[in-house]
Amino acid sequence: MNTQGGLLERLANGPVICAEGYLFEFERRGYLQAGPYVPEIVLEHPEMVAGLHREFVHAGSDVVEAFTYYAHREKLRLIGRENELERINRDALEIAATVARETGTLAAGNLSNTNVFAPDDESRRLVRSMFDEQVQWIVDAGMDFVVAETLSYVEEAELALASITESGLPAVITLAIHRDPHTRDGFTAAQACARLADAGADVVGLNCIRGPQTMMPMIREIRDAVDCHVAALPVPYRTTDAEPSFQALTDPGCDCLPDDRPFPTALDPFLCNRYEIAEFTREATLLDVRYLGVCCGAGPHMIRSMAEALGRTPPASRYSPDMSRHAYLGSDPSLKAHNQAYVREL
Ligand SMILES: [Zn+2]
Repeated sequence: MNTQGGLLERLANGPVICAEGYLFEFERRGYLQAGPYVPEIVLEHPEMVAGLHREFVHAGSDVVEAFTYYAHREKLRLIGRENELERINRDALEIAATVARETGTLAAGNLSNTNVFAPDDESRRLVRSMFDEQVQWIVDAGMDFVVAETLSYVEEAELALASITESGLPAVITLAIHRDPHTRDGFTAAQACARLADAGADVVGLNCIRGPQTMMPMIREIRDAVDCHVAALPVPYRTTDAEPSFQALTDPGCDCLPDDRPFPTALDPFLCNRYEIAEFTREATLLDVRYLGVCCGAGPHMIRSMAEALGRTPPASRYSPDMSRHAYLGSDPSLKAHNQAYVREL
């Protein structure tokens, strides 16, 4: 693990891993609804949120990111729980801060796309006020830094950055680039990140939406365009040049999909394996991309793979595969020869 100092000190020393993907994981487990995607589990089952934070740290995450993703005014309005906005934020922050303290990891606050941004003054004021109220709760909770993520308008990202910068906390800004390789306001990912770096972001890059294969080319362009630290947190799905985002994926092998679209609840056949995540990590490291993670679809085994690709042995590495002791495929001299001989029948 990268355990010394705050975010910027740790990044100066080497890569920092930040596990994401809480929405998808809790949806799979049956504690959060696909569609609205609001982290209600923070209120209903806080112990499970703390538990997943601990699993990710056990697997090698250096950061505990508070599960306030989509816990903003617009999303809570959508499910009729706007009156619980402050509580869900403060509770999620406290859960994350507690796990970070007990594990020696960094505690991150979180902002996300508001879904009400539009390029007009009324929307700008509203979005800024939404970010400001969340950042105040993040400051109150004593978090180490703030992540603003899955932003597809650079202008909305700039509003989040301004809000974070005013708080004095370090800012990690990650954009969501969909099928169109531009932000919704027309910038390439590299141009958008350069703007955010110039505006004072400590880390800029991409998260979510694109899998390793279709995110990496953009990460290279971003690396060339900025001097600050770069973030790369793909979704663990096999996106392609023809279908570069996880929303764009199609599955001709299945005729029972609702709306004919694997996104978001039938992406299983496209899942990357842990070795592909390790490959992505090694490629990113060669580019000196230091803020790394996996987004929607991530599991702890992928975070462990990422950590091990960086040469680390998180606690979960105790249980990393040792196929030499597999009854049929192994080589341990105590294994039964008749099972090893049976391998060709497996
Ligand atoms: Zn995601």
